[in-house]
Amino acid sequence: MRAPKGTFDTLPPASAQFVAVRDTLTAPLRRAGYGYVETPVFEDTSVFARGVGESTDVVAKEMYTFSDRGGRSLTLRPELTAGLMRAFIEHRLHTGGLPVKLWTVGSAFRYERPQAGRFRHFTQVDCEALGVDDPALDAEVVALGVQGFRDLGLTDWQLQLTSLGDSTCRPQYRELLTAFLARLDLDEDTRRRAEINPLRVLDDKRPEVQAQLTDAPLMVDHLSDSARAHHDAVRQHLTDLGVAWVEAPRLVRGLDYYTKTTFEFVHGGLGAQSAIGGGGGYAGLSAALGGPDLPGIGWAMGVDRTLLAVQAEGLDVAVAAGVRAFVVPLGAEAKRFAVRFVGQLREAGVAADTVYGDRGLKGAMKAADRSGATHAVVVGDRDLAAGVAQLKDLRSQEQTAVPLGELLSVVRDTVGP
Ligand code: AMP
Repeated sequence: MRAPKGTFDTLPPASAQFVAVRDTLTAPLRRAGYGYVETPVFEDTSVFARGVGESTDVVAKEMYTFSDRGGRSLTLRPELTAGLMRAFIEHRLHTGGLPVKLWTVGSAFRYERPQAGRFRHFTQVDCEALGVDDPALDAEVVALGVQGFRDLGLTDWQLQLTSLGDSTCRPQYRELLTAFLARLDLDEDTRRRAEINPLRVLDDKRPEVQAQLTDAPLMVDHLSDSARAHHDAVRQHLTDLGVAWVEAPRLVRGLDYYTKTTFEFVHGGLGAQSAIGGGGGYAGLSAALGGPDLPGIGWAMGVDRTLLAVQAEGLDVAVAAGVRAFVVPLGAEAKRFAVRFVGQLREAGVAADTVYGDRGLKGAMKAADRSGATHAVVVGDRDLAAGVAQLKDLRSQEQTAVPLGELLSVVRDTVGP
């Protein structure tokens, strides 16, 4: 049996890196007072159809949709924002103080063509600030994402930023762009895409399409006064926060609901799938899901891709995995002691383990080495009778006898947590 196509298992010891990346990306959110939300990994299909957008590839081609035994159409979440908004509306979180700041992390599922960095099951960290339209809030959200990448030690990445305008200027711009695209030599498929969302064509990677787009009108040149002022203020706040970006006037993201501030984090070491995260403002999402007409801003970071970025930069981010102390019993009495002592060590906050199954001294010492422990506590029935245990430094092989009464504190002080 194998994991399904496009999925993979994350195993120790490499999984320690995955955990470190995931936790480092969420730490800035926790420090900034964002509240954790847990939502189901599946929702009614309409949550995504309405919340992600019918015209998107995600909804049109990539959803894992199924009927449950009660005949309901459910979908494994292809992203985390729509479910979070559904929960925000269902529990009327907007009736408290605004903005409401939330984060979550977990699995997402998309039926995509698998390739390096693109999977059918992946993990996202998600951050949302809802209910207030304030450029300073946009800047905060972006900066919290930046902080996570900085804390990981990543350097070969870029924040790409633009504005997709709002309901007062986007419709006119859309018409302008549609008229421009109508004059180009585009294939049937691209034409159809242009009809659903002309902005998507700007993002077409093919050189023959890009070559025709050099003179395409850009949203940033057609912003309304208020959208322009918002965009300028976001950039001012980002500067104040010490966040650098590059202007990306052709940036269009995969989901339909973005308005105003729009951004993507791109890494230089990942090849074609270079986006390690992205997000933006969404004025219409809450209303589209039947909620109050409130704005929001948020992002989703790809944990798996960020991990690939960490590896591409050769960074060592793994939190200390495994154990520090390994207890090796020799004899039946010693075995009982070992099980009890490991329990005491763990209770005292020391990462500890012992050997299971009858392995003999050689096998037990091998297990100790493999565990990553820095020290072994070797104890035989004869030691017990003498009231001592041997504390062995596994790097220097030095060994000292420690009285049982002091063993817990000595081991704790020697190996650390
Ligand atoms: P999106 O929800 O499409 O804006 O994606 C946000 C982030 O999730 C991207 O920047 C990627 O890092 C990650 N991501 C999206 N789709 C996939 C996928 N199929 N496999 C791995 N990571 C993904």
